Amino acid sequence: AKRNGRNRYEHFTLAMDDVARSRRVIENDLREAISGRQLRLYYQPITDGEAVQSIIGYEALMRWHHPVKGLIMPNDFIPIAEESGLIHMLGAYALYEACREATTWEGKQSVSVNLSPLQFKNSSLVSVVEAALRDSGLDPSRLEVEITESVLLDDSLGNIRTLESLKKLGVQIALDDFGTGYSSLSYLRSFPFDKIKIDKSFINDMGDSREALAIIRAITGMSRSLDIQITAEGVESSEQFAKLREEGCTLFQGYYFGRPQPSELRLKALD
Ligand code: C2E
Ligand code: CA
Ligand code: CA
Ligand code: CA
Repeated sequence: AKRNGRNRYEHFTLAMDDVARSRRVIENDLREAISGRQLRLYYQPITDGEAVQSIIGYEALMRWHHPVKGLIMPNDFIPIAEESGLIHMLGAYALYEACREATTWEGKQSVSVNLSPLQFKNSSLVSVVEAALRDSGLDPSRLEVEITESVLLDDSLGNIRTLESLKKLGVQIALDDFGTGYSSLSYLRSFPFDKIKIDKSFINDMGDSREALAIIRAITGMSRSLDIQITAEGVESSEQFAKLREEGCTLFQGYYFGRPQPSELRLKALD
């Protein structure tokens, strides 16, 4: 039995070595990806439900065009970038690139960039945002950053102060994936967010889950009294769109309106 146990343990460590090795390979590839222009931002429209579905902005979503492996999605490389510290470089790239790209949009729509909670551990985050705005010449009010609740969970690093500094630059701040994780309504007291994005899992479940619908109702009800805009993400059908409008959502994002696309193929506002 002892021998067997050791064997199993050896298999386990070998498997772990494999995982570690393939992570290291990806990490090295990622280093090259940044300098080799393999990372690209795709843009997904965010529409205003009131104004005959006009596009008010785009969320920038990163894609990795790997020379051998092909297209790699963010959920498969952002965690590795976070663990290796490459997220700071990758995050700065996203900010510079999104701001630069948005200056070419005739419609003057806003651009939303996702920030990793780890980027808040770097004291230069505010100056990176400032530099991206300065270099591109983008009007700061056209940049929105999306953060998740985990940024607010631990304020020992002064994350709230960082958010206030970003706000002072004139940047919009959105709370992403709302309703998931540790979600607490009290977070909304810690910072005046411009927008809340209801996590797409609630939109997905809304049709057959009374609970999901009840949570959407609670969020939209509260947003009315706090005067915060609500974005419903992951809207895939006209039925969901109609229902969410009825519930008081004002902004919409999802495959029903358009998929993430390279900027040149981006769905243009119907103006
Ligand atoms: P997220 O910020 O919640 O972004 C929304 C995700 O939902 C995107 O996945 C988008 O393509 C997808 N989506 C949009 N509409 C629909 C829909 O109607 N149905 C379904 N099923 N999905 C929809 P994506 O592009 O794979 O990105 C996944 C996550 O990776 C993002 O979630 C975000 O957390 C992270 N991410 C992406 N780009 C960046 C980046 O530049 N920096 C950082 N730090 N994170 C990023
Ligand atoms: Ca987002
Ligand atoms: Ca989200
Ligand atoms: Ca997410």
